[in-house]
Amino acid sequence: MGEFSGKVIRWQKQSGRHGLPWQQTRDPYRRWIAEIMLQQTQVSAAIPYYERFMKRFPSVQSLAAAPEDDVMRLWAGLGYYARARNLIACARLIAARGGEFPKSASELSGLPGIGRSTAAAIAAGCWEEPAAILDGNAKRVFSRFFGVKRGESESAFTKRLWEIAEREKALNSCSVYAQGLMDLGATVCVRSKPRCGECPLSGECKAEASGAPGEYPGKKIRPPKPVRDAAFLILEREGSWWLVKRPGKGIWAGLFCLPSVRGKLSESDAEARFPELRETGAGHPVLFGRMEHEFTHFTLRMTIWKAVAGPGPDQPPGTGKWVPVGDVGEEAVPSPVSRLASLPVPR
Ligand code: SF4
Repeated sequence: MGEFSGKVIRWQKQSGRHGLPWQQTRDPYRRWIAEIMLQQTQVSAAIPYYERFMKRFPSVQSLAAAPEDDVMRLWAGLGYYARARNLIACARLIAARGGEFPKSASELSGLPGIGRSTAAAIAAGCWEEPAAILDGNAKRVFSRFFGVKRGESESAFTKRLWEIAEREKALNSCSVYAQGLMDLGATVCVRSKPRCGECPLSGECKAEASGAPGEYPGKKIRPPKPVRDAAFLILEREGSWWLVKRPGKGIWAGLFCLPSVRGKLSESDAEARFPELRETGAGHPVLFGRMEHEFTHFTLRMTIWKAVAGPGPDQPPGTGKWVPVGDVGEEAVPSPVSRLASLPVPR
């Protein structure tokens, strides 16, 4: 057993996290769902989603057969919806192969939404495969312990860490090692104030020796994000909002959302650009508010208009539905829309 992996394994057995719902199984379906949820979400936030998901979709076949809207609805709130769309695509692929998951990290890697580290975590967790893990937590631990700081090139930094992850991988107790790396990064070697005094790697860690371990791995050099403007319309009728299904590609693909158009609108523009207003005999739209939403590659600056639809039976154009305001948060909607719906009345 390597010295580094041995220390991580011993620490995990004694002080790591035990009893997480997905640790109780070696079923690749369950491990896969957990790993995907954990990609951008903390353990405590992921647990209730995981449990609801397992109740509704207990097998890969049940997920493969589910309507997309049902999956998105259960995912709503976790964000990064591409993960949910990839889950469906991957489940359908696996179900078409008879429901058997590939049994190695190299075969898992490359399935929709499964990258190298996720594949390794599943393979280590289910089959004790010695595989290199490099999720965000492991990255931080490796960077600090081996003293590898970010430089100009993000890809050179990641490449160096992958080399370390490969070199240091455990050859036995692989699931404990993988869990240990993630636990250490999440609970001891945390982002801003690492608790070196509680760390099994203390005394040999380069970042600790530098006296400023929190400076590792260093900030990502990111070009400034572009800003995009879009106008959204809250169209209300008898306490319900009109939600439209977004196209299968682009932001919030497949989710239900307020009608929207690109750009900034004046009041008269808003009347002209939202056909929903004409079609439902709505009154003039009024400016309701502004909010910003961060995507990975841009900031969405949202202007929100509101109007009340006429009482008639006329429906707005497009694929959509009226949803009582109190139920909007239960639908597969983007988080800004559920935030808007949860604002105290008067809305
Ligand atoms: S000694 Fe400190 S900086 Fe180094 S790995 Fe442990 S917690 Fe992180």
